[in-house]
Amino acid sequence: MKRRPIARIADALLNARSLLFCCHVNPDGDTLGSAMALARAARLLGKRADVGSSDGVPDIYRFLPERERVLKEPQPGAEYDLVAAVDVDGFERLGAFGPAARQAPLYAVIDHHVSSAEEGMVDLRACDTSAAATAEIVFDVLKALKVPLDVEIATHLMTGILTDTGSFRFSNVRPRTFAIAETLAEAGAHPGPIFKEVYERRPFSTVKLLGLVLARCRQSCRGKVVWAVVSRRDFEEAGAKEEETEGIVNHLTTVATAEAAVLMRETLKGDVRVSLRTAGRLDAQEIARKFGGGGHRMAAGCTLPGPLDRAEAELIACLESLAQALP
Ligand code: 5GP
Ligand code: MN
Repeated sequence: MKRRPIARIADALLNARSLLFCCHVNPDGDTLGSAMALARAARLLGKRADVGSSDGVPDIYRFLPERERVLKEPQPGAEYDLVAAVDVDGFERLGAFGPAARQAPLYAVIDHHVSSAEEGMVDLRACDTSAAATAEIVFDVLKALKVPLDVEIATHLMTGILTDTGSFRFSNVRPRTFAIAETLAEAGAHPGPIFKEVYERRPFSTVKLLGLVLARCRQSCRGKVVWAVVSRRDFEEAGAKEEETEGIVNHLTTVATAEAAVLMRETLKGDVRVSLRTAGRLDAQEIARKFGGGGHRMAAGCTLPGPLDRAEAELIACLESLAQALP
């Protein structure tokens, strides 16, 4: 991305003494890896730096070197010169850290989503929707800071890129993604072992849940809309936690006819989390935004009020009308 926003963020990081890097709720490898890389870099520069993740660190990301330092809620009395939202734009997606971001003397956003938010509230913005992962932008920020790329930082950034690109296979991958990955691999962060950690050290319950859910997948509009739902009963039957639905939607996108693929899961609170993927003709971000969510053109999410069957009916009806209108 352009040099100026990167240079401005780098300057602000250098001038701050105590920093907080915030992840989005339902955190993924990109928000966690990017925030942890920034916090580690800031610490290497002699600063006090925390990572805030309101929903903690899902088990599949427990191998990340900086996981122990992640806060689930703000520490009482903690004050920061700079708070940065990482891989997220919008206070309401910061969970328990929303207020700290609002009150920060300096508030920055480092992100690759289509911006949805608080124009006037953001002091510094390094946002690039052409970046495959926020980790790519963080890579540039760390370069501007001249922080040496140690194996820990490289591992965090490689995790962000690997998970947000579906292991380098999604259409968001660009030549620069490989150039950055090359440098990260040279620094000791090979993608193979990271893939293994994230995707191939699952508890039995994750595979069991996948089977239960896929067995009941549905289609309409001659296969243009493909979806599945996960109820609280499914979680109980599989003995699985909420975070174990991660990745299930990618199986639905493999259906050749699918223009839209959706996974809906009933949360403990009783509302319905939606993961939406499209083949590119429908804009996932635009659809998710209708329901108060957001994301990218081909991958987005939102939360609907329960009960599950009503949310399912409402969302699928919307997708069917869009899919039917396609030429
Ligand atoms: P996932 O389905 O994997 O949870 O999310 C897909 C993409 O959409 C991610 O980039 C994620 O950050 C974004 N996203 C998911 N849910 C929401 C939401 O409720 N609001 C916004 N603004 N973005 C979301
Ligand atoms: Mn991301």
